[in-house]
This record gives sequence, C-alpha cells and structure tokens, in this order.
Amino acid sequence: MGILSVVKVLDEHERTMAFAEVALGQIRSLRQTAIPRNYEIWYVYATGYNAPLNKIINETLARNGRLTEADLEQIYETYLSHLKTTDRIDKVGARVIGEIDDVMHLINDALGMSASYEASLSGASQKLSGAKNGEQVKAIVDQLVKSTRDMRDINKALEERLTLSKSEISNLQQSLDAIRAESLTDPLTGLGNRKYFDRMIETAVQGALASGEPLSLLMFDIDHFKSFNDSYGHLTGDQVLRLVGMSLKQTIKGQDITARYGGEEFAVVLPNTALRQALTVADHIRRAVMAKELKKKSTGEILGRVTISVGVSVLKPDDDTDSLIERADVCLYAAKRNGRNRVICEVDPEYAAETQSQVA
Ligand code: GH3
Ligand code: MG
Ligand code: MG
Repeated sequence: MGILSVVKVLDEHERTMAFAEVALGQIRSLRQTAIPRNYEIWYVYATGYNAPLNKIINETLARNGRLTEADLEQIYETYLSHLKTTDRIDKVGARVIGEIDDVMHLINDALGMSASYEASLSGASQKLSGAKNGEQVKAIVDQLVKSTRDMRDINKALEERLTLSKSEISNLQQSLDAIRAESLTDPLTGLGNRKYFDRMIETAVQGALASGEPLSLLMFDIDHFKSFNDSYGHLTGDQVLRLVGMSLKQTIKGQDITARYGGEEFAVVLPNTALRQALTVADHIRRAVMAKELKKKSTGEILGRVTISVGVSVLKPDDDTDSLIERADVCLYAAKRNGRNRVICEVDPEYAAETQSQVA
C-alpha cells in the first residue's frame, strides 16, 4: 500500500469514526441496547443520508423523549431493512413469478373449459340431428345454454383476473424503476452516482464519436476540503457537499449529465457542447459555488465560502472514455497547482506545462 492510499484510508477512518462516535453517544445517552440494529439506525442517523429516518426519530424523540424497543423495531423495518436493494429486487422478482404462475393456471383452466365447450357444441349438433321431438330439442338447447353460461362466467373471471394482473404488473414495474433509480443515485447529494456516471458517459461518448458532434467533460473538486472538514467536522462537510450538489443542479439543465464522481469530486458531461461553451458552463458552476455563504444550521455560525477547481476536456476523434476523463483530470490537477478556484482546459499553457512535467 503506497503512502497515498494510506492517507485515503485514514481519511475514511476519521470520517466514519465521527459517525460511529455520534451513534454510540446516542445509544449511551438514551440507554439503549448496543446491538448492531440500533447501531445501524444511529449510524445512518449520524450521516444524515436518510432524511425520512432522521425525521421520524426527531419527531418521536420530541413527542416521547425516548425511543422504545418497538419504535426502534418499527424504524428499522420501515427505513432500513428495505434499503437492501438485492432483497428488494428478489422480492419483486418473486412477485412477478407468482403473478405469472397464477395467470398461467387460469389460462390453463380456461383452455380446458374451452375444449370441453367445443366438445359439448359438436355433441349437441349430433344430438340435435337425431332429436325426435320438441322435448328432446329443448333438453339439448337447455344444456347448450348452461354450458355457454359456464363458458361466459369463466371468460369473465379470466378477464377480471387479467385486469388485476395488469395493474399488479404495472406496480411491480414501478417498484423496479424506483429500485433502479435509487441504485444509480448518490444518497447524500441526490446527483447520479459513479455507476450512473460510468454508464452515461460511455453512451454519450459513443454517440458523439458516431455522430461527430462535439462533447465536453468537466471534472471538479472542492478546494482545501480536508481542512474544511477538519475545522468544522464531517457532518458540516457533508452539508457542503449537498450545497455543491445543489449549485450544480441549479446551473446544469437539459441533456447534460451530472454526477458525484467520488468523495468531493463531481463530473459533468456536456453532449453537443464545444470548448467555448463548456468553459462558460464551468465558470458558471465555479461562481455559483463561490457565491454561497456557508452557515452552520445549528448555531447560525458563518463558515465562509468554499471554492472549486475545474478541469475541462473536449472529445477528440481518437478518444475513448478513459482518455477523455484522463485529460480532464490532468487539467483539474493543473488548476490545483496553479492556485485553485479556476478552470483549466487543454489549450491553456498550464495544461501543457502539466503534461511536460509529467513526461520529465
Ligand atoms: P485540494 O484543494 O487539493 O483538493 O485539497 P483537499 O483537502 O480538498 O483534497 P484531498 O483530496 O486531500 O481531501 C479530500 C477530503 O475530502 C478528504 C475527506 O476529508 C473529504 N471527503 C471526501 N469524501 C467526503 C464525504 O463524503 N464527506 C465529507 N464530509 N468529507 C469527505
Ligand atoms: Mg479530491
Ligand atoms: Mg479537494
């Protein structure tokens, strides 16, 4: 493990320890059992990632001054156990299979009924040709009327069941859509996550290479975020990440793809956008972030402002996704080395200097 990865691990260690300490502190002060379930509830509470969970806990505490065993059970069931995406997908899958099974049975029954109806129709036509009097004809017709009624009832039941099944399947479809959307979303900022970014940029790059339309990529990173975290705490740091996410959402519209690329790094893919326009967008984002004065929610304390550094690359005909990302990354690095709070692209001398120093 190199020094850089050790630093990363330490950061992650500190960040998660802060949450762990809040979680244990809550368990201690509320004198709850320190079982994994309760720890998980309070850990998620400390991260603030799951807003509905925090809301219900705050409300229950405000109302009753404590959380009972039943409250904790209920909160876990409602807000956490369902979060396990694979479980949810399994459940939806099982329901789809159950639904198809039911409908197949019903269709089989209906097919059986239909075959016996066929048989009774052709039997009746034979019997009719041999009927000797009105009495016999009436008996045959009565039988026909009865089996036709039975058939109609079966059809009606099938139709009703299929209507029900249609709405059940459309519910299942919605559940799957929600699970899919969630699996591609970063819970802290509500932006697309890394998985989303990887998928979307690949499609966008392939599209642009095929059509010859321009495409630009912005990668940005918060300046001196570590010292911000160290001074004000990771929870406040997370609020800043949310704020940057919001600035991004407010600035970026339409077909552009925004994502949280990693810890405090973000990426924006701009399809159909050449360098000049991409630089304008990058500078808009930079200014939007800088314009926000940060205030600590709990105390109202003014924390100042954060800035970002941005690297911009533009797709070339012999590029692939990796080379495009790599150039944006080098530009971002050049922006950091040349004073931060700025936008650097591949035609800037700082980029050239960076690539020369890399070769040297
Ligand atoms: P630079 O201007 O060179 O980017 O300096 P920096 O301090 O921002 O850069 P560095 O990469 O050294 O530090 C990134 C820090 O971001 C490390 C960690 O404390 C913080 N960080 C990363 N992910 C998260 C997160 O999800 N929440 C919080 N609160 N902090 C995070
Ligand atoms: Mg960073
Ligand atoms: Mg940084």
